[in-house]
Amino acid sequence: MNPTPPTVADLQCAIRNVPDFPKPGIQFKDITPVLADARLFAASIEHLTAGIAPGTVEAVVGIDARGFIFAAAAALRLQAGFVPVRKQGKLPAQTLEQSYDLEYGSNTVAIHADAVKPGSRVLLVDDLLATGGTAAAAVALLHRLHAEIVEARFLIELAFLHGRERLRGAPVRSLIVY
Ligand code: AMP
Repeated sequence: MNPTPPTVADLQCAIRNVPDFPKPGIQFKDITPVLADARLFAASIEHLTAGIAPGTVEAVVGIDARGFIFAAAAALRLQAGFVPVRKQGKLPAQTLEQSYDLEYGSNTVAIHADAVKPGSRVLLVDDLLATGGTAAAAVALLHRLHAEIVEARFLIELAFLHGRERLRGAPVRSLIVY
């Protein structure tokens, strides 16, 4: 007899809250217990890709670094390619870059200029939506490549930081909302 597959609530139970990491005041959502459990990891990918038929997106775009884990597995599930959005200076070929502001300073992310063809349907995936700066920069890069962002999906959303308001260019869905 097959046990029932883990629910989103089961995933939420497994996510570990680590106070004051990486600096005081941050409640870090640690997803490694989900990854370490075969059934939870598989269920996280099932839930993240729910409602998207295999073969209907060309690529799943993952954001450096934890987003890669979920996006790569989602790409296999959806019979799609995987495309990384990386921190500046990591991709070897010609790139497009996009900067965004942080509380102090700024960050830059990059994508290979030939990573997605104009008009391609892509799914954007990351582990967590916080202020939305990173995901908004990834959305901007995909728009500059003329990709069609079917949706941006996140395992976790910290709704009190209003990140989805910065993602007006793409429909947003998250599994677990704090
Ligand atoms: P942001 O650009 O503010 O939306 O930050 C999103 C990125 O930072 C995501 O890729 C997350 O992996 C990471 N992140 C931000 N806040 C947290 C948190 N409280 N717990 C875990 N990861 C976080």
